[in-house]
Amino acid sequence: MSDKAIRKIVIVGGGTAGWMAAAPLAKMLGGRCEIELIESEEIGTVGVGEATLPTIRFYNRALELDGVDFIRKTQATFKLGIEFRDWGRVGSKFFHGFGDYGPRIENRSPHHHWLRLRALGDMTPIDACSVSASAAAVDRFTPPVGDAPSVFNAYSYAFHFDASLYARYLRDYAETRGVKRTEGKIVDVELRGEDGFIERLVLANGTEVEGDLFLDCSGFRGLLIEQALKTGYEDWSRWLPCNSAWAVPCESVAPLTPYTRSTARSAGWQWRIPLQHRIGNGHVFCDGFIERDEAARVLMANLDGKPLDDPRPLRFTTGRRRRAWNRNCIALGLAGGFLEPLESTSIQLIENGVGRLIELFPDRDFDPSLADEYNRRMDTQFESVRDFLIVHYKATTRDDSEFWRYCRDMPIPDRLAHQIELFRSSGRVSIHDPESFSEPSWIAMYLGLGVEPRSHDPMVDLIDEGALRGHFERIRGLVRQTVDAMPSQSDFIARNCQA
Ligand SMILES: Cc1cc2nc3c(=O)[nH]c(=O)nc-3n(C[C@H](O)[C@H](O)[C@H](O)COP(=O)(O)OP(=O)(O)OC[C@H]3O[C@@H](n4cnc5c(N)ncnc54)[C@H](O)[C@@H]3O)c2cc1C
Repeated sequence: MSDKAIRKIVIVGGGTAGWMAAAPLAKMLGGRCEIELIESEEIGTVGVGEATLPTIRFYNRALELDGVDFIRKTQATFKLGIEFRDWGRVGSKFFHGFGDYGPRIENRSPHHHWLRLRALGDMTPIDACSVSASAAAVDRFTPPVGDAPSVFNAYSYAFHFDASLYARYLRDYAETRGVKRTEGKIVDVELRGEDGFIERLVLANGTEVEGDLFLDCSGFRGLLIEQALKTGYEDWSRWLPCNSAWAVPCESVAPLTPYTRSTARSAGWQWRIPLQHRIGNGHVFCDGFIERDEAARVLMANLDGKPLDDPRPLRFTTGRRRRAWNRNCIALGLAGGFLEPLESTSIQLIENGVGRLIELFPDRDFDPSLADEYNRRMDTQFESVRDFLIVHYKATTRDDSEFWRYCRDMPIPDRLAHQIELFRSSGRVSIHDPESFSEPSWIAMYLGLGVEPRSHDPMVDLIDEGALRGHFERIRGLVRQTVDAMPSQSDFIARNCQA
């Protein structure tokens, strides 16, 4: 290590973000740099955030976690995607699955061929070509098999897990690799006179903690990035208006569904996340359109099982910190911003935030171009995810409540307006950030919400119609066979990874 190497990293916060940062840093730095994590049991964690995206598997794999042990100890279940109910219009139901709608044909995306066949009168839903959607519809699950492209692995999956157990799991991992955990409440953050870098933290018991690099994982309050460094917050609530939630666990019910459910309500939406030992539920809403007590009542009236607790309130402002990396501080998790729980993107943003920090790891000179690059990449991802979420609200045809009329009529970012118009006119999907949601995800949402393309890629018309029909018959048959051979998720878990 050079004489300018970072000697000590201080992580503020022991929620999902804090321990997700500590674990890979401990693995990578292997004792060559001191890591101290400070958390306060008195303050506690946000205690939600239990649905993930498939990239969580890459994160877990990079840590070399034992996959079965992780599932058992976090009460995890499998997630093939999200079922949307009443979005777009009341009574609608569609699935955003992880995976594509079959292989590309003549280098053209499968949905263009499907659009062509539909125009020719074949009304088979596009989900018949999706393994994840077809398996989810019958509550079946088995992991994809093999690496060679085939129907048997043309899908992906993520996890639902107990957030506090996951943080605990990573804490054990990190502590085993030398991370020091300090219990205590930080009451002061001291900045260096000459450049405003963070120098030390002061705990309520008078202990002082110095460091070179500080990770702010303190949750919504942004103790370092905002309260000390005054970085500023970009408020996106004009596009993502939900600002509150009630959360409550309830007893499990059969069947154990291998997906998250998101049901639109009159002023927001409700999540349902099945774990092995309970179901997590929450009602996300905008308090400008519904009374808070009424929102809690709606949640409690729509649980599948007996509630296991009283509902817990949460408040947030959708948006992001103006600079996630400011001076010698990097904000991860809720301290860096929050785009609301729809599509479960926060944990993925933590994964990527930690990954990019490792890629652009600084020394004590803190070359500003490293922070600029980090912020550029985080900004791109935040904006791309934001726009994907806005589509869920904007593309509605619901007009049964003031909230949905607001969403339907609200102005949206120009780039997103172009993306939607492009799809409407020609079925083409414009992707701003290749590291974020890919083409099949946008297609699932557009078609599910009722954004209908007026035409399709003309190149697909060059393919022989009979051959194309035969191809689709074959793919649908293989998807059916694949799903028929899968066990139910309950059976798969009972046999392989019961908690
Ligand atoms: C309603 C809701 C639903 C969500 N659902 C999902 C989901 O399904 N999927 C998903 O990916 N994400 C979801 N999220 C986001 C997810 O919960 C967070 O990204 C994740 O939990 C990380 O939180 P955190 O660690 O940043 O903050 P927290 O969990 O709030 O942790 C903050 C930590 O900082 C410590 N701390 C704060 N101040 C001090 C101080 N002064 N001194 C010492 N310690 C301090 C606290 O003790 C705590 O340990 C959801 C969020 C909300 C609000």
